[in-house]
Amino acid sequence: MALTTGSRGEDRTLHFKARLRDRADQLREEIRSTLARSNDESHVRISELARDEGDDSFSDLIVDLNLSDIDRDAQELRRIDAALLRLKEGTFGRCVDCDQPIPVARLEAEPTAVRCIGCQERYEKTHATQSTPTL
Ligand SMILES: [Zn+2]
Repeated sequence: MALTTGSRGEDRTLHFKARLRDRADQLREEIRSTLARSNDESHVRISELARDEGDDSFSDLIVDLNLSDIDRDAQELRRIDAALLRLKEGTFGRCVDCDQPIPVARLEAEPTAVRCIGCQERYEKTHATQSTPTL
């Protein structure tokens, strides 16, 4: 290929940006159709509004709805928004806890990951014990 591909870091940014955007579009469409099918008129209205609104406000709108049907999608969309922001700021792929680079293989599997595997395990362990009632 005659095309110069620039720095590797730049390629990776574009690669993950494209992946995150695709996934976000997919999630928005799922959420939109779920809302459109709703019997609640205000939800249907939000699904119509969401079509015209910018991407940024959409995740805020739906998170505020607090609906169990779309909660998982809404949370994932939030994580994707955050990951896209990190890409923009240049902090993407860096562990928020130990500040070390997150292995690319992990990011490929989970582009919204904010922690390296070690820190994630520690994080989940802490949170699991917090949410489990001690009997
Ligand atoms: Zn870490």
